[in-house]
Formats: sequence, C-alpha cells, structure tokens
Amino acid sequence: MQTIEKCNFAGKKVFVRVDFNVPLDENFNITDDTRIRAALPTLKKILADGGSPIIGSHLGRPKGVSDKFSLKHILDHISELLGIDVAFANDCMGEEAAAKSAALKPGQVLLLENLRFYAEEEGKPRGLAEDATDEEKAKAKKAIKESQKAFTRKLASYADCYVNDAFGTAHRAHASTALIAEYFDADNKMFGYLMEKEVNAVEKVLNDINRPFTAIMGGSKVSSKIEIIENLLNKVDNLIIAGGMTYTFTKAEGGKIGNSIVENDKLDLALDLIKKAKEKGVTLVLAVDAKIADSFSNDAKTGFCQVDQIPDDWEGLDIGPETEKIFADTIKKSKTILWNGPTGVFEFDNFTHGTRAVGEAIVEATKNGAFSLVGGGDSVAAVNKFGLAGGVSYVSTGGGALLEAIEGKTLPGIAAIRGY
Ligand code: AMP
Repeated sequence: MQTIEKCNFAGKKVFVRVDFNVPLDENFNITDDTRIRAALPTLKKILADGGSPIIGSHLGRPKGVSDKFSLKHILDHISELLGIDVAFANDCMGEEAAAKSAALKPGQVLLLENLRFYAEEEGKPRGLAEDATDEEKAKAKKAIKESQKAFTRKLASYADCYVNDAFGTAHRAHASTALIAEYFDADNKMFGYLMEKEVNAVEKVLNDINRPFTAIMGGSKVSSKIEIIENLLNKVDNLIIAGGMTYTFTKAEGGKIGNSIVENDKLDLALDLIKKAKEKGVTLVLAVDAKIADSFSNDAKTGFCQVDQIPDDWEGLDIGPETEKIFADTIKKSKTILWNGPTGVFEFDNFTHGTRAVGEAIVEATKNGAFSLVGGGDSVAAVNKFGLAGGVSYVSTGGGALLEAIEGKTLPGIAAIRGY
C-alpha cells in the first residue's frame, strides 16, 4: 500500500480530503482549530515535496449553498497556520475550481468551497416533499446516485493523487471520502498522517492487546452504545459502565433511581448484557453510589447516596466517591484502556468530579505503561477541559468513526484505500 511518507509529491496535484468541520462563533471566528492543526503534517509534507494540495472538506450540514457554511470563513486561518497564502475556489465544481486547480504551481495550495453544498457529496436526495411516494423517493435516489458519479469524477479530475486525512468522516461512503478513490491507482491513493495514526491506534486497541484490557463506556444512553458494548464483551477483561446509562442497569436490577435518566425499553437489554458479560468472563463494573441532584442544573441541591437508593424527585448526575475509587482501581491495574463518554454531566462544574477522576486514573495507568485511547466527542472535550490530553496515549479526532471502527465495522473511507 502506498504511504504518505514514501510518496514523492514533486510536481503533483493532490486532492486532500480533510475534516475542517470546525466550530465557529456567531462572527465566524474559529473557536477550536484542533481539526485544522491535525491535518497540517500531511499538507506540509506535500508542500515540502513540491506538490500542490487541493483541499476538500465539509463544514456543518448545509442543505445547499449557504454563506453560513462557507469555507471562506476559515481560509485566512489555514493560510496563517501553513505560512502561505491559500487560494480559494468559490465552488468545488465548475470552471473556476478546474481552472484554479490546473493553474496551481508546486508549493501552492487551493481550498475548495464546502463539498456538501452539493447533495452529490453525500449522495442523498434533497428537497423531497414530505409526502413523497416510495416511487418518487426511489427515483430521486437513483438520480442522485447517477449525478454523484459525475460529481466524483470531476473532483478526481483536478488531481494526480488522492490523500484521505479525514478520519472523522471515514465511516461515510461519500463522494470525496470513499468513492473518489477508485479514480486513482494504488500508487496514487493513500492515507494522510492523521488517518494513519487513527487507524493504527484503533488496530492497537483491537488487535494488539496487552491485558488486562478495560473499556470505560459513559455518556447518556445505552441505545447509542449497544453495538459497541456487545462487541467489546468479546475483547475486554473489564467493562466499566458509567454516565447516564448506569441507571438503566440499576433499574433493570430492581434499584430505585428517582428521576435519573433511563431508557425503560432497554431494561431487558441491560439484563442481557449483564448475563452475557458473566458468560464471557468479563468483569462488568457498575457504579455503587451516585452524586445526586434535586434538579437537572448546576445549581441544584446535591447529595450522595447508594446508586439503587435514589430518592424520588432526585436524579444521579455523576458517580459518587466509592465508585470513583472502584473505577480508578480497575483502571490503574489495566494495560490497555479505551474511554468513551463522561461519567456524569461534566458540562456542569458541580458534576465533573467523576469524569476527572477517571481521566486522572487513565493518565496514571498510561504513565505505568498502559496504552490508552480516548475518543468520541464528549470524552475528548473532557480530557481537554481537565488538561489531561497530554497524559493519554492517543486522543482520537473521530466520534462516530471511532466507535464504528471499534464495533468492528469496515469504514468506507479506510476500505476505499487499503481494500478492507
Ligand atoms: P453521549 O453523547 O452518549 O456520549 O453522552 C454524553 C452526554 O451524556 C453528556 O452531555 C453528559 O452530560 C450526558 N450524561 C452523562 N451522565 C449523565 C447523567 N447521569 N444524566 C444525564 N446525562 C448524563
């Protein structure tokens, strides 16, 4: 397989798919440029070789052309970070994009306008009437798939090589993240450095496991994590369940959870997961106590109680001190650690303690030689909030993509390049 390190881009035009879907404030200032910085090594390598990157990205979820989602808002910042003036094409299709791509000289960079201004990027029909018949829907779907081919071919025509450095969208079979790869031969398509690092980190957690292996699954709902939890039961020694999904397990086992968040239709599923864990010899580590609040608010009255004894009208918004200790002990004894999702409502300052304690235990385990992978939007926000990112082995930029990879799914963006 071709690699970015081996490839010499001298004189080549390179379509680089990045994930520059950065958060912007109401004045279009970038509030967090992590995703842009993460792609710099790839862009710089192409430039240093004497190649010309043509950058393609999406921003937000536009339903058509929209100033709000224009990549021109981030153009100056990209120029600043690269230390050169980046050119801009106001449309990723059409004469301008083709002419500006063709005119690029070695060492010059072009940023294309938001790829998702075109429905063809995602390949999903837009503007269908709500009462559209199945036949109309099928027709629209067929039409967009057809025009997607032309769209993809056009994007591919700008460049000699294709580099995918957008791990965040690797789980989508979109035009620029997967389909485009077929227009380049094996020597001219490859992962960027970021993508390579992400793929390696996932493979290490899935295939090169030092034991004990502990996964900490937090967040709000069991339903959104069910597949990954089931998959992890085949891999881990310890599975720590934290966050809002705790209470579905507690209620399923007959505990009193007051007003805590719960999925009543997932109680059987929770019992089934407990049973499966037992059968597979996985230690399921559940909370024993909770920090409770009399309303869902940072200013609520608070207290601590056993996790299955939460009074009516109160709700669990974080783990309690006993649970923190149990979680930390398990984590510190681990040699491979995967963390996704906070232990509580960490957005409220009064309910950050458990999440921070888990983060600190992971940092300590990492110091003692464990490999730790943190991923999925909220856990990344948490390690950043507590200044712990530098103390873990790898912080993934992928949310959905990371979870799908760990579920064992083939990601289209990865398969398009390496074939599996
Ligand atoms: P997810 O997107 O599923 O990873 O969930 C992350 C969200 O779960 C965060 O916004 C947390 O505030 C929320 N969360 C964690 N613990 C609780 C809890 N005990 N009650 C309600 N929400 C929670």
